Amino acid sequence: MDLTTGKPLWPHIGGEIKPYPQLEKDIACEVLVIGSGMSGAMSAYMLTKAGFDTVLVDSREIAGGSTMANTGLIQFFNDKTLTSCIHTYGEENGVAFYKLCEEAVRKLGRICEEEGIDAQFQPRESLYLASNEADLPMLEEEYRTLSRYGFKVKYLNPGDITDKFPFTKPGAILASGDAAINPYACVNGLIDVSAARGMRVYARTEIDSRLETEGGSVFYTKERRRIRAKYAVYSTGYETQEMKRNRNAKLLASYAIASQPLGEFPGWYKECMIWETARPYLYMRTTADGRVIVGGEDEDMLSGEERINRLAVKKDILLDKARALFPELDLQAEFAWAAVFGETHDGYPLIGAQDGFPNSVFSLVYGGNGTVYSVLGAEMIVNRLKGLKHPGDRLFRFDRPRHTPPAKRLQHISQEKISAS
Ligand SMILES: Cc1cc2nc3c(=O)[nH]c(=O)nc-3n(C[C@H](O)[C@H](O)[C@H](O)COP(=O)(O)OP(=O)(O)OC[C@H]3O[C@@H](n4cnc5c(N)ncnc54)[C@H](O)[C@@H]3O)c2cc1C
Repeated sequence: MDLTTGKPLWPHIGGEIKPYPQLEKDIACEVLVIGSGMSGAMSAYMLTKAGFDTVLVDSREIAGGSTMANTGLIQFFNDKTLTSCIHTYGEENGVAFYKLCEEAVRKLGRICEEEGIDAQFQPRESLYLASNEADLPMLEEEYRTLSRYGFKVKYLNPGDITDKFPFTKPGAILASGDAAINPYACVNGLIDVSAARGMRVYARTEIDSRLETEGGSVFYTKERRRIRAKYAVYSTGYETQEMKRNRNAKLLASYAIASQPLGEFPGWYKECMIWETARPYLYMRTTADGRVIVGGEDEDMLSGEERINRLAVKKDILLDKARALFPELDLQAEFAWAAVFGETHDGYPLIGAQDGFPNSVFSLVYGGNGTVYSVLGAEMIVNRLKGLKHPGDRLFRFDRPRHTPPAKRLQHISQEKISAS
């Protein structure tokens, strides 16, 4: 699958990336992690730290998949609002999801700090704008829900917004506890730290097939090298859909641009991250080297070639939308990229075991908060291997029940009553 096209920002800025070799002999390990994106890197990091003899492989260069396209917004606030999660899954489950995400943001910051990873982790507030008047009741309800469960949020009315920004909107939620990051530097840092602890890392090493044996599996690479592993972690990203399609997963095309370094952002309150209630949503953030990243314009899945053709148009749309919000900024698109983006219909990532894959776990961190889900997935996997439970086991498992929102159920019942009478 052509995951990323165009010119993504991260590989072109920042320091030198350590190269890793291709696998050239048969090896054995306790845990094989397949995929070196955010999900695989985080799992491999936590597994190595917990003392598991871990091997990490990737068919591409390290972090050469979707993680290269990641715009690095780290948020507890999900694409599916807390109110909507509660409607779909019930109060306990919905609130647990948001609390797990909130803690995962903090945990990511702690890891970067403790391990000395220069991932430009910067605590940031997030501004969630009502895109139009019609979305205001939903936004207000979400504010009340977040406040009720102790999340640090403020409500901004149009006057508050114009005090802080050069634009106005019908309303907004300002949330604390989020962060911005360079995801590519983070992944490379996690892998370097783990390699220094003894983890073996192989780039350009594609797992092609697998044979189940007593006490584990033998994985074959495309070059017919064998990796014998007691346990495997599939952190194979959106390409997993080509291997084992999941009906809850949906693949889209998404677009992003990064400006030239600007340095200063007049009228941009605390350089907070910005997104909105419209779907697909526009989002913006600033980077540690003074650029503005703008993303969005999601549409149905396209081939890499089709995405490249659309990129010129999408780049201009993103620029126009960002300039409309910040007319004083001299925004040019120095980088522009298009990528596959995956989400689930029910809004939660898919993390757990799947039929037909014994001694294995999948960490498919689909959704706009893939980085946060990667932290949760990694914790769940380490716990699983240690025989411990994790609250995410129940929430994110592949065979979770399909829920109908209560409002819809009630509507359905009343319609049944009407038709019965
Ligand atoms: C434009 C865009 C913006 C985004 N912005 C954000 C954001 O702001 N914040 C956020 O949290 N998330 C964001 N995301 C989502 C985020 O990028 C993903 O959640 C994340 O990158 C997924 O990481 P991953 O490790 O699952 O996948 P990947 O990074 O794709 O890693 C999977 C790896 O598996 C390897 N692989 C697959 N099959 C095999 C095999 N058989 N053998 C060996 N290797 C294999 C691939 O080569 C790949 O490198 C964004 C996504 C896009 C597209």
